[in-house]
Amino acid sequence: MARSYVKEARKRVGPKRQRIRPVIARLTAEHADAAIALTFGSPLELLVSVMLSAQTTDVNVNRVTATLFEKYRVPEDYLAVPQEELERDIFATGFYRQKARSLRGTMRLLLEEFDGEVPRTLDELLRLPGVARKTANVVASELGRAEGIVVDTHVRRLSQRLGFTREDDPVKIERDLVRLVPREDWARFPHLLIWHGRRVCDARRPRCEDCVLTDLCPSSRV
Ligand code: SF4
Repeated sequence: MARSYVKEARKRVGPKRQRIRPVIARLTAEHADAAIALTFGSPLELLVSVMLSAQTTDVNVNRVTATLFEKYRVPEDYLAVPQEELERDIFATGFYRQKARSLRGTMRLLLEEFDGEVPRTLDELLRLPGVARKTANVVASELGRAEGIVVDTHVRRLSQRLGFTREDDPVKIERDLVRLVPREDWARFPHLLIWHGRRVCDARRPRCEDCVLTDLCPSSRV
């Protein structure tokens, strides 16, 4: 029963290859302001913000970095203070010990191997201590060098609901999405899904009646 319902719904909306461009176009019109919610003024601040954003909200990170970035301006600054001082300064973002250790390790490597600059490629970013694939993807995308598609909880949920993937694992979802989403949209696509997820396609109560994608979405309830 459930199976045939899903099949029917997929038939109704058509193949995902035909839907992906209209979905992106409609979401772009709907969420013209969709962009990263972290506040940063340089690639280094971007990298630090994204590293701090693990397991916490962007609002919380912005609150902490508003004063943090006054004090820590260059990679050397993160190494000039005792680890405990840095831990105190980032305490409110949670997991502060691990994050402080990652930040210091990252700053050391930036100085040793990248002349104190944030590298642009995914492979180089992934060499930085504590920088996992999602962080590297976000940073590379924001720096105009998207090499993949960021998959967070919203991107995962909406990609599944929209029938763009049947996978559950973020790495496999990303693999499906990079095959489907036009390359020029790799950086923008996650922001569109994140904002649509926050504003309309809620995890528990999707507001399909207010959604611009109902005729393109196999999970639509209207
Ligand atoms: S139609 Fe409903 S399930 Fe589909 S994207 Fe819109 S809100 Fe989400």
